[in-house]
Amino acid sequence: MVNELYQKRREQMFPRLTAAQLARLEAHGKRLATQPGQVLVEPGDRHRDFLVVLSGSLEIMLPGLAGPELLHVLTAGEFAGEMSTLRGLAGFTRIRVRAAGEVLALDDATLRALVQTDAELSEILLRAFILRRVGLMNSGQSEVTLIGSRHSAATLTLREFLTRNAFPYVNLDVDDDPAVQELFDRFHIGVDDIPVVIGRGGQVYKNPDIHSVAALLEMNPEVDAAQVHDVVVVGAGPAGLAAAVYAASEGLDVLVVEAVAYGGQAGTSSKIENYLGFPTGISGQALAGRAFVQAQKFGASLNVASHAVRLLCDQRPYAVELSDGRMVKARSIVIATGAQYRRLDIDNLQRFTGAGIYHAATHLEARLCQGEEAVIVGGGNSAGQAAVFLANGCRHVHIMVRAAGLAESMSRYLIRRIEESPGITLHTHTQLTALDGSDRLQRISWRSSSTGEEQARDIGHVFLMTGAVPNTGWLAGCVALDEKGFVRTGPDLRGEDLVPARWSPARAPHLLETSMPGVFAVGDVRAGSVKRVASAVGEGSVCVQFVHRVLAQL
Ligand SMILES: Cc1cc2nc3c(=O)[nH]c(=O)nc-3n(C[C@H](O)[C@H](O)[C@H](O)COP(=O)(O)OP(=O)(O)OC[C@H]3O[C@@H](n4cnc5c(N)ncnc54)[C@H](O)[C@@H]3O)c2cc1C
Repeated sequence: MVNELYQKRREQMFPRLTAAQLARLEAHGKRLATQPGQVLVEPGDRHRDFLVVLSGSLEIMLPGLAGPELLHVLTAGEFAGEMSTLRGLAGFTRIRVRAAGEVLALDDATLRALVQTDAELSEILLRAFILRRVGLMNSGQSEVTLIGSRHSAATLTLREFLTRNAFPYVNLDVDDDPAVQELFDRFHIGVDDIPVVIGRGGQVYKNPDIHSVAALLEMNPEVDAAQVHDVVVVGAGPAGLAAAVYAASEGLDVLVVEAVAYGGQAGTSSKIENYLGFPTGISGQALAGRAFVQAQKFGASLNVASHAVRLLCDQRPYAVELSDGRMVKARSIVIATGAQYRRLDIDNLQRFTGAGIYHAATHLEARLCQGEEAVIVGGGNSAGQAAVFLANGCRHVHIMVRAAGLAESMSRYLIRRIEESPGITLHTHTQLTALDGSDRLQRISWRSSSTGEEQARDIGHVFLMTGAVPNTGWLAGCVALDEKGFVRTGPDLRGEDLVPARWSPARAPHLLETSMPGVFAVGDVRAGSVKRVASAVGEGSVCVQFVHRVLAQL
């Protein structure tokens, strides 16, 4: 049965174009006569035409393991397609002629050009495409099924990967889904094989990683290894997506490679409340999804599960080596690979992130734990600052460190304040051991390594101030880094970073430019950056004007 979204937003999902709009489209397409029963599009077709019904009707069928489902019947003035049509990627539905008539067909390159130039049609088409993808995601029907267990980390990785990349799939859990046994029998799978992905046409992939899933499900556009791009953006968090949107909208040829899923750290945030223009907050995934569509609208090519392992900076054009051995070439590079918080090896960490587990102690988080107890894990200055700040509003703050004290890792003035504050208790030789709760964190346990004693308390707020590690391993030897491994840029570059062997131009580096001419770094990966969504977006967009200047001088 089609889901609620199809009922509630049918008009926006399946709008009818006016005669004037159809006439504008007509100039770009070709008319095709249709016969009943004729299949115009099969699931999995790439680079399929964008179809507009001129007369007669078309059925949109969504295949699934239990048989196809009719989503909608398109009649005159309505159009087929969704996000994959715009990207030239494999689609999910079968389009079959119901009543004979005529359709207008536009190829995918023409469709992309159209949404960049015709603002009115762009709005109608993109809204419909986005809603249709959301509808597919929520439909509970797909040719692609993931069978796994909620207790398996490999399953969780695949679920997150598919969900964060907005790929429609059916999720079955071996622990409580009765349909699983029938599929096990039908496809000769055993519980030892999970996670299993059953793909289009019933192909079975046992325990695949995200790279093979992306390849099997054809989630990415083709990459031409011979093509030299104006700019390759590495990382599709807020900074990389902003760089892609601005560069592509200003006519540059942009390729984005992203190791996992678009959105980066922000994509894992349940609600971002401090991003300009969203007074009631927006989920990281919704924000990233919009930016992803926007980048594609302007023609950027985006690839997920594409991990950069090396920057080849001794050659021009530059090249980026991907983990599957492919090379992509570019005249300029934007490094937007962000940072990762050091993860604690503890169950349920991901589950409670944003729901009791925090990586920042701003006024926002402080309000959440007003009058309640909070735990800070970490002994650095950020942990000390957070403790002093939170002690103003929280009932009590506990700092937990594995070490014997704070002297090695924290500034003296902060240690003194902590010692003088009756609202802060320091637990040395202590480790967090368990996180529990239902929809949010409610109870934690910790253990003292000196006494072996384990304690459990009803505490619902844990701040992990264990430090961020920049994702710069792939840059080895290419650009100057600071002592923590973050990329130095612009005025932060020192004389020794710019020795002639590395820096040849007569000019000084531009703002956000690294010690390699034409290689820029933006967002959390950059030394001295403000670790926020808005600043990452700002830097990603600002760097594009300097990319233009560099390209103009080549
Ligand atoms: C749970 C959580 C909640 C947050 N909430 C807020 C908030 O409410 N407000 C706020 O302002 N900030 C918030 N932040 C901080 C904010 O998300 C970051 O500052 C922001 O995402 C940084 O953007 P970025 O693009 O620089 O890097 P990231 O978001 O880290 O993105 C970097 C991307 O690069 C990819 N990548 C890494 N290495 C490679 C490689 N070798 N090859 C290809 N791709 C690679 C990663 O997979 C990632 O997608 C939050 C952070 C977290 C973790």
